[in-house]
Amino acid sequence: MDKENKFYQLTFAERLAWLREIGALSADEAAALSGAAGLTPAQADHMIENVVGTFALPLGIAQHFLINGKEVPIPMAIEEPSVVAAASFMAKLARAGGGFTASATAPEMIGQIQILDVDDLNAAAERLKSGADELLSLASSADPVLLKLGGGPRKIQIRKITASPIGPFLVLHLVMDVCDAMGANAINTALEGMTSAVERISGGRALLRILSNLADRRVAKARCSIPVEALAFNDFSGEDVRDRIIEAWAFAAADPYRAATHNKGIMNGVDAVVLATGNDWRAVEAGAHAYAARGGHYTSLSMWSKGAQGELVGELEMPMAVGLVGGATRVHPTASAAVKLMGVSTASELAQVIVSVGLAQNLGALRALATEGIQRGHMALHARQVAIAAGAPEEWVAPVAEQMVNEKQIRVDRAVEILEEWRTR
Ligand code: NAD
Repeated sequence: MDKENKFYQLTFAERLAWLREIGALSADEAAALSGAAGLTPAQADHMIENVVGTFALPLGIAQHFLINGKEVPIPMAIEEPSVVAAASFMAKLARAGGGFTASATAPEMIGQIQILDVDDLNAAAERLKSGADELLSLASSADPVLLKLGGGPRKIQIRKITASPIGPFLVLHLVMDVCDAMGANAINTALEGMTSAVERISGGRALLRILSNLADRRVAKARCSIPVEALAFNDFSGEDVRDRIIEAWAFAAADPYRAATHNKGIMNGVDAVVLATGNDWRAVEAGAHAYAARGGHYTSLSMWSKGAQGELVGELEMPMAVGLVGGATRVHPTASAAVKLMGVSTASELAQVIVSVGLAQNLGALRALATEGIQRGHMALHARQVAIAAGAPEEWVAPVAEQMVNEKQIRVDRAVEILEEWRTR
């Protein structure tokens, strides 16, 4: 426990050794995380086209996350300084109120078929609704594995799009439980298998057949409740910090210019875990922002309020289309090691962890912005990247960064000057 509390003070090698010691990782998994092993050029060559290499990012572990009563180390792949530290710190604050409580709906994804050239939209819509059983049965035959696992097609919905640049048309939604997959391939295959029946029944022409990234039936929620005493720091009282956080959130709730940045802060945490686990972060990003605009007005994905005992209550709800099978999750050795480290065994658990990290990250940004500002803490970390960009050798990165912070001049040109001064000494 002592060591865990000082995880950030250990060296790179000591952190990995400790994770091995507590049995969180095997030797192979530790090697995959450290970069000693990981994705090989041959594996990469099978994943996409025209491969000439692999691309590495730092992988950090956020600490102190207690989610539904369980300790979860959080692997985060991200290039931006401060994110991992802020997540860990906020997870520690949330523990004062019992950590995060998270839940997720069934893993139901939506696939769409665009149906054009229909004479009578209402009559065709009715025929498609009556033919739902036949359509569901065709969709079922596309993926026997999902059926065996208790998933598969759940329902057919018909929507009329009346305002479009090409005039009105129909859209068929296939709702499918994709179990522990992200589900894009399963859905797209099922949609293609339904095409000719959809055309026959509707009398129209099926054009697009594709998954929707607005996964609003596959939503994960996280909540934390922080006693006001735990929020006090420096000259700020707990009540003051709580009220400032709620005021800062209200800005994002009301203004899309602020909401975009507020939600970007949430996605700092979300994307880092989505990426570390080999999931499709573009899909999660697309779903998040479409969900934030679902009421016709782009707003905050999270909500902050004052609880009955004066505590700070935070809630985050967003679509979370992530899987543990398919995509790169099983193929990429680092992603597999990251999943193992978290100890999650279903896509739903992974979704709950990710949304908890998003809420922690949101709290970190709001707390800093609404009190001392983010630059002080952020620039100290940013200075290290500036030192590296200026060409500082490894042993000089920390001292060059420190000097720039002390001088309050965190710029590449200053780092170059410092390096020149030191080299000619
Ligand atoms: P996949 O097809 O590789 O794997 C899913 C399949 O694995 C299931 O259909 C099922 O047959 C099988 N399976 C075995 N065990 C399972 C379990 N426990 N739960 C669920 N399925 C199990 O992967 P996928 O999730 O269908 O597709 C994900 C990939 O599709 C991602 O790489 C994504 O980038 C890509 N993609 C995304 C979009 C989009 O977001 N719009 C579009 C096309 C493709």
